Amino acid sequence: MKKLSGVSVSPGIVIGKSFLYQGNDFSEIPRYAIGKTQVEAEWRRLQAAIEAAVADVRALHDKASREMSKEKAAIFETHLLMLEDPEFQDQIKGKLETDRENIEWVVWDVSREISSKLMDSGDAYLRERAVDIADVSRRLMHKLLGIKEFSLADLAEDVILVAHDLLPSEVLTMNKDRVKGIVTDLGGRTSHTAILARAFGTPAVLGLSTVTKEINAGDTLIVDGSAGQVIINPGKPALTRYQDAIKQYHKSRDKFLSTVDLPAETKDGHRVSLKANIEIPEEAAQVIRYGAEGIGLYRSEFLFLTPGQAAEEERQYQAYSEVLKAMGELPVTIRTLDVGGDKVSPNFKSSDDKNPLLGWRAIRMCLALPDFFKIQLRAILRASVYGNVKIMFPMISGVEELEQALALLKEAKAELRQKKQKFSKKIEVGTMIEIPSAAMTADVLAWKSDFFSIGTNDLLQYTLAVDRGNEKVSYLAQPFHPAVLRLLKMTIDAAHDRGIKAAMCGELAGATFAVPILLGLGLDEFSMTASAIPLVKQIVRGTTMESCRALAEKALASSSYKQTETLVNSWLAEHFPNK
Ligand code: PEP
Ligand code: MG
Repeated sequence: MKKLSGVSVSPGIVIGKSFLYQGNDFSEIPRYAIGKTQVEAEWRRLQAAIEAAVADVRALHDKASREMSKEKAAIFETHLLMLEDPEFQDQIKGKLETDRENIEWVVWDVSREISSKLMDSGDAYLRERAVDIADVSRRLMHKLLGIKEFSLADLAEDVILVAHDLLPSEVLTMNKDRVKGIVTDLGGRTSHTAILARAFGTPAVLGLSTVTKEINAGDTLIVDGSAGQVIINPGKPALTRYQDAIKQYHKSRDKFLSTVDLPAETKDGHRVSLKANIEIPEEAAQVIRYGAEGIGLYRSEFLFLTPGQAAEEERQYQAYSEVLKAMGELPVTIRTLDVGGDKVSPNFKSSDDKNPLLGWRAIRMCLALPDFFKIQLRAILRASVYGNVKIMFPMISGVEELEQALALLKEAKAELRQKKQKFSKKIEVGTMIEIPSAAMTADVLAWKSDFFSIGTNDLLQYTLAVDRGNEKVSYLAQPFHPAVLRLLKMTIDAAHDRGIKAAMCGELAGATFAVPILLGLGLDEFSMTASAIPLVKQIVRGTTMESCRALAEKALASSSYKQTETLVNSWLAEHFPNK
């Protein structure tokens, strides 16, 4: 038996067998020079790989046709055409003969070049083909490198997933019924892999550094996502203890669920709104049972992260409509595309950025690709007839970007009017405050925004210069750092001066220890992983605004996060002595 400690990212306890997953990442493609005499042999290797890939895709196509999945069958048909396309093969052959490098590298290089050209074209159809090219080249790479392609969607037994690192797209497509727990070497609390694990209710411990070296396939594991611990091959006493803890955990969760119908109101009558964050449309139907009063953040980019699937207007429209219909009258805030950073998409070349967190991502990419952006805006507008939609723009750094985004929204509306397509006339448009420059100019941004939503995950990352996915520096990501508290105050005050609401959709909104200060600063809306709502509501209902305001005032006068932490701990001990 061995016990390891990591970052607790998704609560719950689970016991199961380990499954070691190596991923399908090709960041290390071998590259070496070949002699003139080897060119022919390399070319033959490619022909064999194409033949094998064609056979696989044919089988997938036939399966999709049998299952009447027209959309999937059409994708595989396109892949077959690409694999057998003489122009694609000629381009590879030309490069192989001139550059004389191994075939894996040549295929990878040619594919990337074609993908880039397609992405840069102003044409939405061609950009979708870039996704197909990426998929086809991945398949060829598997064949050439002799790696068996494995998708986490194909898991057939209950497992605890053990990996060095996981991409959000891998968590998104894994078989959620089979993956009972997740443990990884890398990753921090606000990485998108962590956010997805919480959304799916899968207990997870990340940032364990060497866990993949400590665990063998088939080991029995206890994953305690609440305490951030993993026990490898536990003895009988530990197993019994944790089995009891699992029962206890479910009991206390059921108790919290009994508060769903109560308002989030302080003892002195101050009402706030508690909403849910979602990543995939299927989650919408679930959030109401936790008492969510709407969706404060729908991370629409997860529609774009699935390998091999482009998010054309119709698919987006269906997804947004599904969410709006599930929520009825309740408000749904759809955030426009925010790929980049740790949300690498096989479908966008932004992942080539040398410094993705500061690179071509989110609104920057959307403004650079206006036709592409308008596809999303039109899809949201069309879906707006089904409910109460709000739109919000991510990663706004200043008023120019906001103005450009608003102008494109206006254009998208005009295009729909021209085609006589309906959309709601009353759609609020908000700005995410997640870059320090936005917080510092919140007074200006408030003039052009119907609401603010503070993204603390990125706001902390950029204010404190801490990569949110890097566990080595996560100790610095302190939400009570005076710089962060001042930016929060600045933002909330600017919203209120202009008569608009200040919401928060970063992870801090669901952190019970932060709720009193956030209430005291005047935050109007808290949006979080749905399962956190009952606990946050308990704090709101157990306090008064008067005491929260006094706490916030003291916190703002503190010179260090440690000082504020002490203040908060004694406040909690005084107001919630039984917690
Ligand atoms: C944030 O940055 O706080 C946020 C809500 O957006 P994301 O976590 O998706 O970057
Ligand atoms: Mg963000």
